[in-house]
Amino acid sequence: MIAYLQCINKTCQEKFPITTKTYHCSKCKALLDVNYNFAKIDAQELKTRFRERRNSFVPIDQSGVWRFRELIPFLTDEQHIITLFEGNTPLYDAPKSAAYAGLKKLLLKHQGLNPTGSFKDNGMTTGIAQALALGAKAVACASTGNTSASMAAYAARAGMLAAVFIPSGQIAYGKLSQSLDYGAKTLQIDGDFDTAMQLVLELSQESDLYLLNSINPFRLEGQKTIAFELLEQCAWQVPDRLVIPGGNLGNSSAIGKGLAEAYQLGLIDRMPKMHIIQAEGANPLARMWAQGEREKLLAVEKATTLATAIKIGHPVSWQKALRALDWCKGGGCHQVSEQEIADAKAIIGSDGIGCEPASAVTLAGIRNLVNDGIIDKEEKIVAILTGNLLKDPDYTVNYHLDSLYQKSQTKTEIIDQQNKIVAHFANQPIQVSAEKTVIKQVLGL
Ligand SMILES: *Cc1c(COP(=O)(O)O)cnc(C)c1O
Repeated sequence: MIAYLQCINKTCQEKFPITTKTYHCSKCKALLDVNYNFAKIDAQELKTRFRERRNSFVPIDQSGVWRFRELIPFLTDEQHIITLFEGNTPLYDAPKSAAYAGLKKLLLKHQGLNPTGSFKDNGMTTGIAQALALGAKAVACASTGNTSASMAAYAARAGMLAAVFIPSGQIAYGKLSQSLDYGAKTLQIDGDFDTAMQLVLELSQESDLYLLNSINPFRLEGQKTIAFELLEQCAWQVPDRLVIPGGNLGNSSAIGKGLAEAYQLGLIDRMPKMHIIQAEGANPLARMWAQGEREKLLAVEKATTLATAIKIGHPVSWQKALRALDWCKGGGCHQVSEQEIADAKAIIGSDGIGCEPASAVTLAGIRNLVNDGIIDKEEKIVAILTGNLLKDPDYTVNYHLDSLYQKSQTKTEIIDQQNKIVAHFANQPIQVSAEKTVIKQVLGL
């Protein structure tokens, strides 16, 4: 078998068989990677093969994850693959967003156009495959919404029990509705994401539940392919910078690993820089980055942000994310305000693209980095949009009605009207009587 689990701690690096059901190194407790003894590859031949699979009708070829299967070779039996045809998401040119950030050009890779509306699908197809390979009957996750939506869908198709742990009243309805509809046992935990995460981690160690949070390295193997697909869409010409939202920090870690492997295998000839963007109220890595702290997590005890997908104070994959920043030298981790997120989201919408609030941190972050002279306006920048606009319609409608509040907004959170977000780019609905003359006047006809 060419695949094995390996401890990420440089002074440990213990290896474990790929079939070990564990999420931490049993020696030193650090996180694990799925690593491979890759045979020497013919990069050109492989690129052609990846591309040709897009013309195939075989399900695993149609998947935007499994069509890169030579680079995620951990399965011994392809029968374990459950695909909803994830990945294969568009790379959009976004001129209004580019102008807003002060760039000549900006590309947005929209992972929100996955089957359940977020990049979690890229990782769930590989996570569920490993669950099946291990003979698991039940899978579990703590979630701010998108992981549970995705896990519920893939578990339903795999015929497994799905148990999702969500912070009570803190997830967007679009996401909650998915987990209910796909039949997951949906447990609303009295506590925040970090509490739910700790609970499910302990339960999965004490029981047969197979944990599918991004602490599970098989999830990250699927998310790694986002890097491959994006490089393919750039004709394998490496962009100058990738910009990625940071919550639990699995996705930035996964994309960093994909880039590093693509570089080692000779699929690309250099590494891009990477920027991870967090919300100001959920900024553990941004704080560490700013303070030069690299060894100890500066956890945020009570994370706050309306971008609920990144409302995480104790990110599980912080060490892997730091490693990714190290591999992609010259980037960093930065924070943006709620006001900046809200305005950036409306601008992305004005390009006809749209995304959920957590995704908009990218454009807000890029704009600040251009203003600060860190990014040059000529550079080739790709931002990852992580989730679909329709996941959290409350946020968007409240913004455009100019009634979005920093510390509240959904009916389920305590209203604090002190911290109002100014809707600089509001597009208010217009109340008109049902008369053609009036309508013509309003529309300037
Ligand atoms: C999960 C998620 C994130 C955060 O990704 P991490 O891997 O936890 O850093 C950001 N945006 C959306 C829409 C998500 O669903």
